[in-house]
Parts: sequence; C-alpha cells; structure tokens
Amino acid sequence: MTANPDAIVIGTGIGGSAAAALLAGRGKTVTVLERNPFVGGRCASYKKEGFVIDVFVHMVGRCEKGPFGEILRRVARPDAVRWWHPSAESRVVLWIDDEPYPHPDPSYSSPEERESVYRAFGFSDKEIEDAFLIYDTIENMPYEKTFELDNTPYTTWLKTFTDSKLLLGLEHQQVLLCSVITPKEASAGEMIRMFANARTDANVGYPIGGCGAIPEALLSVVRDAGGVVRLRTPVSKVLVEQGRAVGVRLEDGEEIRAPLIISNAGIKETMNKYVEKEALSPDYVESVQSLTTGKLVEGTPMGMIYLKLALAAPVIDAPLVFRNVREGTIEGLAELMQGIMEDKPPKDYKGINIFIPVPSNMDPALAPAGKQLVNFYGLAPVHSKNLDAWVDFHLGYLYTLYPEVEKHLMWYDFSTLDRINKCSGRFHPDIIGITQSVGQTGTDRPSPVTPIENLYLVGADVGQDNIGTELAAESALRLEAILDERGAI
Ligand SMILES: Cc1cc2nc3c(=O)[nH]c(=O)nc-3n(C[C@H](O)[C@H](O)[C@H](O)COP(=O)(O)OP(=O)(O)OC[C@H]3O[C@@H](n4cnc5c(N)ncnc54)[C@H](O)[C@@H]3O)c2cc1C
Repeated sequence: MTANPDAIVIGTGIGGSAAAALLAGRGKTVTVLERNPFVGGRCASYKKEGFVIDVFVHMVGRCEKGPFGEILRRVARPDAVRWWHPSAESRVVLWIDDEPYPHPDPSYSSPEERESVYRAFGFSDKEIEDAFLIYDTIENMPYEKTFELDNTPYTTWLKTFTDSKLLLGLEHQQVLLCSVITPKEASAGEMIRMFANARTDANVGYPIGGCGAIPEALLSVVRDAGGVVRLRTPVSKVLVEQGRAVGVRLEDGEEIRAPLIISNAGIKETMNKYVEKEALSPDYVESVQSLTTGKLVEGTPMGMIYLKLALAAPVIDAPLVFRNVREGTIEGLAELMQGIMEDKPPKDYKGINIFIPVPSNMDPALAPAGKQLVNFYGLAPVHSKNLDAWVDFHLGYLYTLYPEVEKHLMWYDFSTLDRINKCSGRFHPDIIGITQSVGQTGTDRPSPVTPIENLYLVGADVGQDNIGTELAAESALRLEAILDERGAI
C-alpha cells in the first residue's frame, strides 16, 4: 500500500500534517511516516482516566482566521477543527499582583478596558499613550515596510517610542511568551508582522478536543484521500541520487520511493542526520549550522516544568489565567535564577508571572463530568536532581492564588524539557524551533526549499510571521505555493 506514493512526509508535527493534508487535498497520495507511537509532535495530547491532556501548554493565536483556517478551507473541511474563543461569558483573567482584571487582549477587550488595565498596572497617561501608539503603528505598518526592520532588535525599535521600564517590561513578557526569546534578540520586523497578524485577526482560541485534535483532523484528510499514516516508523535516511531526493530508508531497512520528499524533522536534523554530507555544499551546511534555537535551552541552566492537574471539582472559573506583578519581577527572577543555579527553589514567590490554561473550561469534554483539568508551567533547572521540590514550589505558588486547588487535587502529571525532544525528535528541546531573532527572519529565514531537488522542509523552523503552531502551519501554505509555482503539484 505504501509503494510509490506521490509524496512522502517525514513527521506528523503541525507542519508535516498540514503539508500532507494540502497535498492530499490536491489529489496526491501521501505516505506520512512518524517515529512516535502518536501524532502531533510538540502539539500532541494523551488520555488518562477520562482526561484529555495536552503534552505541553497551548493556545492558538488566530484559529479560523489564520493558517489553520486557510488550510482547512483549502481541503474543503472548514469545520474539521472547531475552536473555543473567549467571550463575555468566558473571559480570560489577568491578575495584577493580587487583583483579578479582565485580560486586555484585543480579541475580546475594548480600548477602554485595555486602558483601565494599563492604569491598574500603574501606567502614566504618557505610558498609555505610548502603548496605544506602538500598537497602532504595528497594525498600520505596510507589510513590505516591516522587512526594513528585520535586522533591528525589537527593543531598539520600541525605544524609539518609549523608555518606560514598565511598558518595555510588559512587552518583554509578551515577546517571551509568544516567541521564547527576549525583545533584545527578537527581530522587530518579524515581531511587527506577527503581532499585526494576531491583533488584526483578534481571534485567539483553543481547539475543541484538545491540541491533538488539530493534527488528527489534518491527517484524516490524508487517510480519506487514500494516503497512509504510519506510526512507530522512524526514517533513518533521505535517499539522494544525482542530487535529487528519490525516497527514504526506514530504520528497519525498508525503502520507500516517491518523487517528492517533505521533511518535518527540523532543518538541522534533516540536513545533519538524514542527508549525506556529500549531497550538500559546505556553504549550505555552514548556514544551517549557524541557525539557533534560542537561549532558553541553549547554554543556560534554565528549564521548565509543565504541570497538568486533575481536580475532583471545578475550582477555577476562568478559561485562562495570567498573572503579572507590578514590582519585583527583576528581583524575583534574580532569586529564581539563583535557585535554578543551585537547584534549590527560592523561599518565596516574589515577582513570578504565570500562564494557567484551564482546558476543561474551554472544552468540558476534556475532563470527566464534574472534574477540572488545569495546566500550569514554571521555571526549573534543565537537569534537576530535585524535581519534586520544584513541583512543590510551583504547586505552592498556585495554591496561593487558588487555595481550593490543593483541597481538590486528585493527581498531577508533569513533564520537563526532555519531553520536548521525545515529541519532536530534535537535537534541542526547543519550544519554537529556529527562533524569530535578528538574522533569522525575513529574507534570512530558512526556506522550505533545500539545495536537493525534490526535498523540501516544513515546520516551525521554516515558518514566518506567526506564533508557535501557526508558524509551523504557515510553512505548509508557503510550501504549497512554491510547489505550485514549480509545477510540482
Ligand atoms: C512547552 C511548549 C509550549 C508551547 N506553547 C504553544 C502555544 O501556546 N501556542 C502555540 O501555537 N504553539 C506553542 N508551542 C509551539 C508549537 O508546539 C510548535 O511550534 C509546533 O507544534 C511545531 O510543529 P512542527 O511542525 O515544527 O513539528 P514538531 O512538533 O517538531 O514535530 C516533528 C515531528 O516529526 C517527527 N519526526 C522527527 N524525526 C523523524 C524521523 N526521523 N522519522 C519520522 N518522524 C520523525 C517527530 O516525531 C514529530 O512528530 C509550544 C511548544 C512547547 C514545546
């Protein structure tokens, strides 16, 4: 059944599943090969005792209005993924210190509400004016003009508007949350395109059925078109003959041939592990080598713990909770970093900002009736010998915000950065892949096109102008356009 498909896709991450669906939608038979026993890569979910749990923490920026909506419409399945969105009845909460406020996301808040949150945050009139000016400029900058700012750090661009520590600090957190780099590293051009897309669409959401529902929906398009999705099937080699990709070899030695090979395994991994060095020019090898996946995991001891809590009763009303502190963030982070260096959690919770999705408030079917599923993440050392102490530290912090959680906690799962490698199969436990930092965006962004004929790349590494999963999904749309232009599909 898998002999001679029209295309082979390596990996069922968002990029691979989306590319495979788009090809299937164009009438191609596609064989998708996945090394894991589950689909979705970094966007996978699993089931436990009636709960459907995302392996990591996910919210989706644009949903129907972004790349996912576009892909599903192109394959004539616009409703294959349904989305929860915040509304007046289901509002995201932002704690500022110990006071809850409606979160000022443009998806659901008015400028007046945003202004009142800025005031609660301690902004002066001038800071409020500057914050609105920054976002007006972002939303109104012509797309072509943003490319002039690709080699400017986002902080440098922000400082042309303000030198307010409070405002710059808030932007810092926003960039870190979306792109997992600091605004000093982030490319202004890419951040402007990314935030402009997110704000213009103003359509943040969460997939009904959990994050794994997205790759499942995309891969059902492949199967329905006669394609095959093989799990536990690691590819060990891309077969290249006379500079042209002709197929793949699996770890068990089986070979499958196809005229089109698309890798979702990561640009570095594909080029370093699966393609013979002789097939690539030294310049290309060097350019791939120099790409970076961000400092959160490269060369720093800073890692994360992802907690998923099964509660016997609903405790948190909001679908999603953020907390920002007005003061003490820097001191708190310094204490936390010290604790991370010593592998010993700090004594108090000074200055900690958080992000708590409550998936079962967005889709009640993700927890058994009357129960609640809560996700929570926190910083911890990458290689801790003291993980239980770090879990206790973060749980203790959650209990200070929602004391009832402790009373109703049935059990929790947690994972660390190591789990990311297991899901993605990459060298680094990276969250975003090749980061959207200066030198890696705009015309410098690695392309889905490789120097090897018929071998292409998809996934977050080669996506642009979007956040996380939508960065990966966008790469599949771009690849489809390239293949179209080349007459390859
Ligand atoms: C902790 C965390 C939180 C995140 N939060 C968000 C969020 O809130 N919102 C958001 O939009 N995004 C978020 N992201 C980012 C998002 O998950 C990723 O950007 C996106 O899922 C990456 O998709 P990808 O296409 O690059 O593929 P990947 O997820 O990297 O998948 C690659 C696939 O290829 C397979 N593969 C690799 N090598 C082989 C091989 N040799 N043979 C066969 N198969 C192979 C892997 O097993 C995997 O299934 C988060 C990520 C993490 C880790």
